[in-house]
Amino acid sequence: MRLILLAAPGAGKGTQAEKLSKHFDIPTISTGAILRQNIKDGTELGKVVKGLIDKGQLVPDDVMIQLMNDRLSADDCKNGFILDGFPRTLTQAEALDHSDIKIDKVLNIDVPDEKIIARLSGRLECSKCATTFHKEYRKPAVDGVCDICGGELVVRDDDKPETVKKRLATYHEQTEPLLHFYADKGMLRTAHGQEEISDTTKEVLKVLED
Ligand code: AMP
Repeated sequence: MRLILLAAPGAGKGTQAEKLSKHFDIPTISTGAILRQNIKDGTELGKVVKGLIDKGQLVPDDVMIQLMNDRLSADDCKNGFILDGFPRTLTQAEALDHSDIKIDKVLNIDVPDEKIIARLSGRLECSKCATTFHKEYRKPAVDGVCDICGGELVVRDDDKPETVKKRLATYHEQTEPLLHFYADKGMLRTAHGQEEISDTTKEVLKVLED
């Protein structure tokens, strides 16, 4: 299965990607996680992208296309993959479409903006393994501590309210048009983000059967 997860920031893409990775036994390639790791490691790429990410803006297409061409040619992607966060613009989608990498399906997780703002304002991320939790919807067993690796849970810089609004505007402007791009190709499947993560996963698996 070669799958693109296409949804607004905060719609639960990352969590569903985790579930689908296990279900299909294929890796999730999260561009946001790759970029944040580069920032943490202080790489040249990290220095270039930090300001953009903190402002809720997109990283330039040529940088992302090169990064993904390299990543998707790695051995672990041979049996399939889940793309979380790429493509995010029509230019990126067209570059992928013209490459040798063939995509089977594109999954949209539909969540209204008001719910996204509520969700992101309570989101916590593990500073070590990047697993996400939520102050209300996915509480860790111990406050401030990751259930998986024991790392400290923090609020991501780009989950601050002003940046969230900017990220949503960027999504509507630049990424939403991709829904039509893939619907026209007959590749788009849509599930609705629900209160319970497991309910969303059930619907996701069902719509992917078609
Ligand atoms: P995410 O964790 O997927 O929400 O990504 C966090 C941030 O990384 C985004 O707000 C963008 O600034 C940047 N980013 C991630 N993927 C892409 C992409 N495909 N194109 C441009 N910027 C990206």
